Amino acid sequence: MATPTPSSSGLSCPIPLPHKTEITVGHGGGGRLTQDLIDRVFRPAFANASLDAQHDGALLRLPDGSRLAFTTDSHVVSPLFFPGSDIGKIAVNGTVNDLCMCGARPLWLSAGFVLEEGFPIATLERIVASMQAAATAAGVSIVTGDTKVVERGKGDGVYVTTAGVGVIETPRTVAPASIRPGDAVILSGDLGRHGMAIMATRAGLEFESTIESDCAPLVAPVQALLQAGLEVHCLRDLTRGGLATALVELAESARVAIAIEAAKVPVTEQVRGACEILGLDPLYVANEGRFICFVPAAQAAPALEIIARTAPGGPPVIIGRVNAAPAGQVTQRSVIGADRIVDRLSGEQLPRIC
Ligand code: MG
Repeated sequence: MATPTPSSSGLSCPIPLPHKTEITVGHGGGGRLTQDLIDRVFRPAFANASLDAQHDGALLRLPDGSRLAFTTDSHVVSPLFFPGSDIGKIAVNGTVNDLCMCGARPLWLSAGFVLEEGFPIATLERIVASMQAAATAAGVSIVTGDTKVVERGKGDGVYVTTAGVGVIETPRTVAPASIRPGDAVILSGDLGRHGMAIMATRAGLEFESTIESDCAPLVAPVQALLQAGLEVHCLRDLTRGGLATALVELAESARVAIAIEAAKVPVTEQVRGACEILGLDPLYVANEGRFICFVPAAQAAPALEIIARTAPGGPPVIIGRVNAAPAGQVTQRSVIGADRIVDRLSGEQLPRIC
């Protein structure tokens, strides 16, 4: 394990963390510990401009001037099947959506499987069929792959890693660095379904109707926004760490302030009830088919109309705006009008959620 050296990374965490010498489950939570691991281990070792952009994928320019997006995502979700989705559907949509968030049209995916000795082939066939159905729905092909097997007891059934390539057809750079003061922040739909679907399944919670994961491809709304010629500055899907963590990451990357109004964030009664029972804030719960969109305030109305027509889980809402300062800060206005600072997810809310 590489020992981080502050001088080589040039990066530091604004809030001191207890120094970790071993990987903890929290390092996979997508919050503060994950960011710390990236900043201490991966970014210093691999240092390059694409990684430094802190985007959902890399934006790459070919010698002929055309641009591609490239991304990868590993999936360790437990259980393998849950209401509304499964590890195969998430493995496809997770990568498809990260390409979409780069402003790209997803085209090709790879699929790598780590299988444990004894895993039923019928279950693998079910997962693979789900992957193909998700790929067809998203308009992508799974064109290459890999299979490895570990001994019984050395894995947990199956892990799936996907990587994806998409083509960028817009002249815009859809990225954190393009966010500007004055941008409206649009949320595409209701929050928290994926995390609460998994949590309810694991905890054996029963509600009047089942909470289903929101897992879905975001190709249609992103393509519609870009083809309409709207000035889309940045897109981010709200996976691990939820809306709150995504906003903090973007405010820090873009060196802007973001102010949101909590009362405007849509959460179904069922998800809100489940969150209350389990002591969770829906702002931090994972989603697999929701995103935020940054556009100049003057273009918020057409963007809302397009997202309402094309995105799952609507209607979309304007939840806040971007301000110039204080850089890196996200604030949330409560229903009684009090502002409080929003921090990224700390530690691990729910291991193995995707
Ligand atoms: Mg993402």
